[in-house]
Amino acid sequence: MITQNPGSWDFHGGIHRPDCKSMSAGKFLGKVPLPETLVLPLQQHIGAMAEPVVKVGEQVFKGQTIARVSEYIGAPIHAPTSGTIAAIEEHPVPHPSGLSAPCILLQVDGKDEWGELPEPLPYFDDMDPSLLRERIRWAGIVGLGGAAFPTSVKVNHGPDRPIQTLVINGAECEPYITCDDLLMREQADRVVEGIKVLLYVVDAEECLIGIEDNKPEAIAAMRKAVAESGLKDVQVIQVPTRYPMGGEKQLIKVLTGKEVPSNGIPSEIGVICINVATAAAVTDAVMAGRPLLSRLVTVTGEGVNSSGNLEVPFGVYMSHVIAHAGGYSDKAYKLILGGPMMGFTLGDDQLPVTKGSNCLLAASREEAPAPDKAHPCIRCGKCMDACPAQLLPQQLYWYARARDFDKTQEYHLFDCIECGCCSWVCPSHIPLVQYYRFAKTETWALEKEKRQAEDARRRHEARVERLERLERERKARLRQKKDALEKKTAANGANPRKAAVEAAMKRVAEKKARQSEAEKSSGESS
Ligand code: SF4
Ligand code: SF4
Repeated sequence: MITQNPGSWDFHGGIHRPDCKSMSAGKFLGKVPLPETLVLPLQQHIGAMAEPVVKVGEQVFKGQTIARVSEYIGAPIHAPTSGTIAAIEEHPVPHPSGLSAPCILLQVDGKDEWGELPEPLPYFDDMDPSLLRERIRWAGIVGLGGAAFPTSVKVNHGPDRPIQTLVINGAECEPYITCDDLLMREQADRVVEGIKVLLYVVDAEECLIGIEDNKPEAIAAMRKAVAESGLKDVQVIQVPTRYPMGGEKQLIKVLTGKEVPSNGIPSEIGVICINVATAAAVTDAVMAGRPLLSRLVTVTGEGVNSSGNLEVPFGVYMSHVIAHAGGYSDKAYKLILGGPMMGFTLGDDQLPVTKGSNCLLAASREEAPAPDKAHPCIRCGKCMDACPAQLLPQQLYWYARARDFDKTQEYHLFDCIECGCCSWVCPSHIPLVQYYRFAKTETWALEKEKRQAEDARRRHEARVERLERLERERKARLRQKKDALEKKTAANGANPRKAAVEAAMKRVAEKKARQSEAEKSSGESS
């Protein structure tokens, strides 16, 4: 069934704040040249960490798989260019913790020589969709809107969840970020080609492409590309500019009127939501047999000399990317990965760009002022009004602060999308999101501990059961032997006990006779 009046609904809360996109919007600063070394973290996605399939010193080619995952939720890593594996070791990665993680270091040889790639699949609509999902998985495609969830898993909704609507997310609501906007303006055909593939893979009845109304050029380009593609039941819907319109649940609500249930996922209500850049990556994987090796990154803020968007191969240091945006200006104060609402501050720029890196915001003091001193909550309720997930942020804050993690779950902590709207409006300047991130991390750690304890208990029970079974089997074997002997003796008509005693006595008498015979013969010989 086709959605009637798509885009006519609204989501709760949200905020209006300056979008600060004009600095970089529509500007392409080119492809970042390859440096001498690329640093490729094995964990660039949600799910299991990839495992290296190459050795130090090995020569690799562009597009070659260098790490793969055996778990269902995960994504392989490919060499963004040709070169030699220089090391497989811990290296600082872009993460709020600032910690290091396992990485593959690739010494670039400058030849940019492609390895063997799978066949392009231009006639994909004659194929079994499972083969296309397999191709998407091979290509290492993850959500490029920032979430980095493996796309092959997302499009594997299962036969019991038919998909009515494929939602394509071109909202890009986070301030400062314009890489999706540029992609839609300049490569709309590539995005639409990916939509064609995705529509076939998920067997959706329609596709709704949501774009905020602050991107008129992108809307026009996408409408043109859709019209020229001849695709039916695909519509570009202009949605109001309001943060966080690009949140998956929020965009689905605005476009279709449907609510994703608490703790649920969109496929439960017949919807799958994919980012525009992810759709473009699907085109490359299916139509050209190319894996995901680079992405568009917005470099912006008053702290860089030239704001714009660059195509960046994965593994390039952020310092190298900033250098290609004209370097830092004298206003540079803070480097943020992502936007000002959902991003996090980096302690260093010697960190690699990964699949989820959509923006480097080199902010000035005015753009990223030091946080105001937090004051006690005055229970004004503004955070509740702003929360797009319709949570009670002040309650969540109280319980997170009190480390009452049962209560935070009761108040739907895991429905919080960490959009930061509550912190933004809080007159007491309480860093609410930090409390929610802390509560989530602690809850995961506790659950992991619980799981480990449960696994240990199961292992112990299994061992005890195995030992008891072995003992039972040993006793059964003895009993069987005894029964067999008794049966045999009974069949010979004798009392088994008496027969055993008589046999023993006979053996003793025979032994004695042999001994006396031996003594006698030794006396005669002497
Ligand atoms: S906005 Fe801040 S002060 Fe107001 S209720 Fe929420 S946490 Fe408390
Ligand atoms: S960060 Fe979480 S609690 Fe705060 S407004 Fe966003 S969804 Fe609601």
